[in-house]
Amino acid sequence: MKVKKFGGTSVGSAERIKNVGKLISGDGKNVIVLSAMSGTTNSLIEICDALKADDRQLAAKRIKDLRDKYTRVVEDLYGTEEYKSKANQIIDDIFSTIREAADADYCIDVRKRIVATGELMSTNLMHLHLKEKGINAQLLPALDFMKTDIHGEPDSEYIEREARKAITACPEADLYITQGFICRNAEGKIDNLERGGSDYTASLLGAALNADEIEIWTDIDGMHNNDPRFVEGTTPVHNLHFEEAAELAYFGAKILHPTCIQPAKARNIPVRLLNTLDPKAKGTLIENTLERNTIKAVAAKDNITAIKIKSGRMLLAYGFLKKVFEIFEKYETAIDMITTSEVGVSLTIDNEKNLTPIVEELKALGTVSIDRDMVIICVVGDLEWTNRGFEAKALEALCNVPVRMISYGGSNYNISFLIRSEDKVRALRMLSYHLF
Ligand code: ADP
Ligand code: ASP
Ligand code: MG
Repeated sequence: MKVKKFGGTSVGSAERIKNVGKLISGDGKNVIVLSAMSGTTNSLIEICDALKADDRQLAAKRIKDLRDKYTRVVEDLYGTEEYKSKANQIIDDIFSTIREAADADYCIDVRKRIVATGELMSTNLMHLHLKEKGINAQLLPALDFMKTDIHGEPDSEYIEREARKAITACPEADLYITQGFICRNAEGKIDNLERGGSDYTASLLGAALNADEIEIWTDIDGMHNNDPRFVEGTTPVHNLHFEEAAELAYFGAKILHPTCIQPAKARNIPVRLLNTLDPKAKGTLIENTLERNTIKAVAAKDNITAIKIKSGRMLLAYGFLKKVFEIFEKYETAIDMITTSEVGVSLTIDNEKNLTPIVEELKALGTVSIDRDMVIICVVGDLEWTNRGFEAKALEALCNVPVRMISYGGSNYNISFLIRSEDKVRALRMLSYHLF
């Protein structure tokens, strides 16, 4: 059994839904995870933003525009009046829940309930489309088994137990369809796995069901060796080690959700990245195999803030770093990169929510300075320290770019550079030119 996830563009129109319908039919009892149709989650977020700003008129207009879009999709997707009417009924019900939520006082739970409807719509539309084609697809509500714990982390035991139960309850199905992205939290309320989280759903389900493979179907033929949105002439990387893929995803390769490799790696389940628009293309296979002596790809992570703490007290002292880390722990802020010297430490964060109290407390340890609008550039491949010359090549590529921090040796798979965001595109292009 495979878990196959199709992203927003893959189900972005009636035509695309039909295309995915063909790809998933007659290929075994697989579990199909769907994102919302492209643009829908953004529209739902805009509706919530209007509600938050108490602009009920704007929210109502946006809700109507979105309903109109789905009217057109229904019209184009189904061949018979019977199925058009069934689909409109389901979409009407979902929009009733959106309007009900919109009428309530705005709060984060309202937002999460509204944002969850995108995946509910795409999966219901696909389910009915397959039914109309005579395929016995079973719709599995992700809210019955996708769950996070009190720390907001996936509750793997619960997911495994409940997802298996849901599938075993429908043995006669040809295939199973479920929603990506959405889940319940520890309190049982509707929540989500953050933007792009459908990849994470697929990987968590793949691990829970011990799938033979997890397929992530998107709009490009696999992981490219650089970000195709900024660099021309990038090419697909056909094989990646789990660790290489995890570094690339974490450090900005948008094709994968940052945490989606971990569950697959833990159970050694191969992940394949495939292109819905070109299903025969080889794509990328991510597994526990490392190709030696190659640099595979480059990625960039935006919106990074660098913090430097300079202190004479660090000289020949122990326990200084512990005090620094405790402050970040207290404010639940993850550190991405870190470099040290005898008199100071620089580190980076991607979440400024608690920056003010963090800086206030750090001031007790030394002089603090901040650099905003920075970017981490991550070069990924077989970068074991005994391999010679690879770090030199990456540095040489960046010889005309001011580099604020360099991190190397933290893993065998990456070297990271912190640069100004205005230099990002130039740096990515220079790296492609020198490395590939
Ligand atoms: P989906 O909606 O299917 O989840 P995403 O938009 O999240 O798709 O991810 C696919 C996009 O990721 C591609 O269209 C591409 O622009 C972008 N991307 C960024 N970096 C890379 C990379 N290194 N390789 C491939 N795609 C990348
Ligand atoms: N629909 C959600 C989003 O747009 C989840 C996903 O597509 O992965 O972020
Ligand atoms: Mg995505």
